[in-house]
Amino acid sequence: MENRIPCKNENCKGTILLSTAEKTGGLCMPCFQSVKRKEEEEYIRKNQKDVNLYEGIDDPFEILKIMYSQRNYDPLIRYIEYPRTQEEIYNSLSRNDIKRLEEYAIQLINDNDIDTAEEILSRIVCFTNSGIDDCLELLINKDHYYPGVLFKGASHKIRDILISQIDKEVENRNHILLALSWIGDIRVSELFNQWRKYPPSWKNELYIPAEDYSFESGWTLTDDGNRRNMFYTDSYPLVHTATCETEPLSIIKSHEDKCPWCRSQMTVLFDFDLTNPVFNFFNFKGERLRISTCHICTCYGYIFTKLDFNGYSKWHEANKKPSFLPNIANPEEEALEVTKPLVLSKTKRDPYYAARWVLEVPGSEVGGHPTWIQDAEYPICPECSKYMKFIGQLDCPDFQEYGEGIYYAFICKECKIAATHYQQT
Ligand SMILES: [Zn+2]
Ligand SMILES: [Zn+2]
Ligand SMILES: [Zn+2]
Repeated sequence: MENRIPCKNENCKGTILLSTAEKTGGLCMPCFQSVKRKEEEEYIRKNQKDVNLYEGIDDPFEILKIMYSQRNYDPLIRYIEYPRTQEEIYNSLSRNDIKRLEEYAIQLINDNDIDTAEEILSRIVCFTNSGIDDCLELLINKDHYYPGVLFKGASHKIRDILISQIDKEVENRNHILLALSWIGDIRVSELFNQWRKYPPSWKNELYIPAEDYSFESGWTLTDDGNRRNMFYTDSYPLVHTATCETEPLSIIKSHEDKCPWCRSQMTVLFDFDLTNPVFNFFNFKGERLRISTCHICTCYGYIFTKLDFNGYSKWHEANKKPSFLPNIANPEEEALEVTKPLVLSKTKRDPYYAARWVLEVPGSEVGGHPTWIQDAEYPICPECSKYMKFIGQLDCPDFQEYGEGIYYAFICKECKIAATHYQQT
């Protein structure tokens, strides 16, 4: 048997073969690798260079192009991040910049880099509310119909191409229906209404009725077949910049009642001062609106509350206890935590701004289109049986350090009922 000698590292109890010691200078393999790794780290630390790809560039189009370009990984290079978010840059684009970005996206689609094109186009559509017809035609030619939001504001020509494909495109039918839903004009609502009366031959290939695809873009059909929006087109984000004036909205306050299911204190998600003219677009007649919930139990289903427009807010007897609820040992310790307070922004934004969850914009808002993490879910009013209207949402990472998921709030103005719901990944 060959002789073994102790590893040179005093703190190591390992022994090694003489032949290994010759190669490693007397260290066992783990110690040898650890020394090598440290040397390498030290080398990188000494020789790593900061590279600012944005140096001297002010053209927002060029800046975005750099952001989307592929970078080869090199441990000796540390890329300096651009100081503004993509969202902020898109907001500063001129019409001409948007045109140039669209042309760039066309080039990417032709080069089959559809993922990057999709990143650019989703932001053009959601943040700048511009149409992208030329790109849509190209995408359709490549059998690419996703995400549906890209088709928001598409031309009649695009719409008619999609309609002509719906019966034969088995593979892409789901995506085409979503795209049509996002177009959602009078021709589409007629078509959806027709499907409601005479379901299409391919109805059994879908999980939901064809006309219910309208939910994904926030509308439904009225009894007489017209489009009815389930969201407000006015939209105000919630932001962190506090102002000294009296705020028109406060969020997440303790409600005076306890949840009858889990016994924890109920939460007022939204407390609106309706006397503030910013909320005129709701057209609620009154002074105060509180939308309340049990922030624990609503994670397992809708929670309905009765309300008036003078601050009244009570648990609704129509609430149906979900088949599963967690066992809360200390209900008095379960208050919804706010570590980063939010206030209503003074500036409106496009209603579809937060419609696409993967764009990672701060989702908390009043009005606007909801940010669905899963499929769209609108509650049905327990009194009039109509779908309720989305009134606002609180995106947990906006107000909690390690928050996750979104709380949604809905209202039936006629019946004076609110509902809440929650989704997460
Ligand atoms: Zn060792
Ligand atoms: Zn509860
Ligand atoms: Zn109702």
